[in-house]
Amino acid sequence: MKHDGWIPTACYQCKAECAILARVEDGKVKEIRGNPSGRGKACVKGMAGVSLQYSPDRITRPLKRVGERGEGRFEPVSWDEALDIIAAKLNELRDKGEAHKLTASFFPHSITDPKWRFLNAYGGFINTALPHCDSAKIVAFIKTMGGVPNHHIPPAWFTVPPGGIMIMAGRHAFGGLDDAAVPLDILEARRRGARLVVLDPFFSEDAAKADWWIPVRPSGDTALFLGMINHIIAREMYDRDFVENWIREGDFDKLKEYVRDKTPAAMSVICDVPAADIRKLAEMCAEAPSVGVDSFKGIMLGQALDFGHAWTIFLAITGNIDNPGGQPLPDLTPLSPVEPVPAGPSLAEKGFHVTGPDREKFRNYSFIMEPTWYQAQAIKNGGLKVLINSEANPALTEMGQSEWCRAVTMKENGAYKLELLVSYEIMLSETSKYADLVLPDKTYFERWELLYMPWWYNFGQGVLLRQPVVEAPGECRHSNEVFIELGKRLCPEYFAFRDDVEFYDIQLAGLGLSVAKLQDMGGIWSPGTMGFRKYRDAGGFGTPSKKIHLYWEDLEEAGQAMPRPGLAPEYEADAEAYPFILVSYRSIFHQGTGQWSHNNPQLRDPVSGLYENPALINPIAAEKLGIKDGDRVTIASRTGEIEATAKLSQRIRPDCIALHHGFGSSIGRVAASGSGVSDNALIPDAGTTLDWQDLVGGESHVSTRVRIQS
Ligand code: SF4
Repeated sequence: MKHDGWIPTACYQCKAECAILARVEDGKVKEIRGNPSGRGKACVKGMAGVSLQYSPDRITRPLKRVGERGEGRFEPVSWDEALDIIAAKLNELRDKGEAHKLTASFFPHSITDPKWRFLNAYGGFINTALPHCDSAKIVAFIKTMGGVPNHHIPPAWFTVPPGGIMIMAGRHAFGGLDDAAVPLDILEARRRGARLVVLDPFFSEDAAKADWWIPVRPSGDTALFLGMINHIIAREMYDRDFVENWIREGDFDKLKEYVRDKTPAAMSVICDVPAADIRKLAEMCAEAPSVGVDSFKGIMLGQALDFGHAWTIFLAITGNIDNPGGQPLPDLTPLSPVEPVPAGPSLAEKGFHVTGPDREKFRNYSFIMEPTWYQAQAIKNGGLKVLINSEANPALTEMGQSEWCRAVTMKENGAYKLELLVSYEIMLSETSKYADLVLPDKTYFERWELLYMPWWYNFGQGVLLRQPVVEAPGECRHSNEVFIELGKRLCPEYFAFRDDVEFYDIQLAGLGLSVAKLQDMGGIWSPGTMGFRKYRDAGGFGTPSKKIHLYWEDLEEAGQAMPRPGLAPEYEADAEAYPFILVSYRSIFHQGTGQWSHNNPQLRDPVSGLYENPALINPIAAEKLGIKDGDRVTIASRTGEIEATAKLSQRIRPDCIALHHGFGSSIGRVAASGSGVSDNALIPDAGTTLDWQDLVGGESHVSTRVRIQS
């Protein structure tokens, strides 16, 4: 443990995990600022992390359920008893040949996270808590470029040359949930002469800084990009050199044929952007020295996979792959493997995916995320028996939440179908109410972690050390420490190292480093440069052909070999009964419930923070409905109904209603004292329109149709 002073570590008030310095005095965290060695930024949410650290709601002992699931009644137990219960159940499962019926749901801080190792060694299923909205982008990148995707990290805006174009499609970088360095990078790029274009039905903080805000119809982005692709090809403005040398033979011809009728005029009808504007943006992009596109949270885009596909095609034909200001391709830092490396079970063989009403489509599923709704189906059909949850809150923050709550309380012959539910928490959550065991986790100020995501924006392809800067209270243990202990009990051959620090030491040896050396270096290692056009030296891309794949033949049957321009199916359904589209957004004060911003007194302050979650309604729509600012209104979808306070705002299109995402917690003294409804109560469970889209996300967040009345 370091002593008082400014100590380098990593923030985890949101999933960007910025490099920060924590000022520690008398063994207590007092202040946070950005670490200058890691590009030096921290946002207000990160700085408010201190308030969370010392919350009286912290859990400091393991708890065991005493009532029924959902009642939230517990009694304290010892760690020995808690671990004995988990180990006994896991042994029983494995003895029956059902190890794959264990799933752990967690946010992966590193591709070498010990939790992944445990799951692979034991034979369980890995279910990351990666959000749906982002997954389409990941899948699109893998399928088109064949490489590790740029996961929830934006293009390297600090590399944009003068005249370059930055397109932010439903990404709220200025409103939070992004690397804290990003907003300044965007502003500095604009100062250099770059241009910012924001596509969003919601006038976000990003839109306020933009050169051009295009209030696209929700779910219309694919059509907009297809219209631009059509125009660029028709005018022969594409990057001929890149197309001839780096796109798989035959794919460009297929694209040309496919987009022949996707003219700006035709696409304008779908996306509600004037054809002239589609042409203008296309020409701006074709003439610019660089174009970068980013989209993530904030507004979840409908038809997410199609959009991810259209946007990667657009970048490819304009030659904006791995160039300054374009789409960076990450590179792997050579960490040492911890031998022996567990292989993990064959998930396709085990059949955990094969569930739901349209199960055949699961054969196309190529990513390791299982949405909450599918987790619920697996419980119901006996495919999931033990669930270990960490830094995720499926009972509140994901679509499918109500289905999940039903499934985890479902009984057969008097016993729960899900035989054991364990949740690691720093304070009680909606999810923990259903847990059989609640384990007291350490916060990001109290634990070791080697953060290793090769595509990290903040410091290039590198490694960041999270180190304990203060002691954890009571009996808190980090989930990684507990997984390592379970590994030593259940699969010791893969857990021969002493503890988490030794596990990281072995990996760091690949860089000639150790945890202690990394500490002395300020916690950050970076190769110093990202490099550009790396595919040239690498002999191509990671696809089988080594070229960019515009056409996805494996999705021919699903009708998605090329991006579909249509709006999300639900967008058109029940349009008469539910005339508005629900749009969710984010702000700098709030981040899903995994990080507890809803229980942070600084962020939920009624004056300087975000206290409640008003429904934003355009004044034109409000007037027609007789709704006034401040009225209590009822918003209903086919899935649910909520009450909220109306806030009239020109920031939202007249055909949309906007709610902030991530509200609705009833647990914790700050959350319970505030108000705020969960948009998820309105969003249909994924199963209602099961499609490949649902597996990779986004659709329902924007295509949920609602009605509103005072
Ligand atoms: S963006 Fe803000 S809250 Fe998120 S990790 Fe960075 S400093 Fe922390």
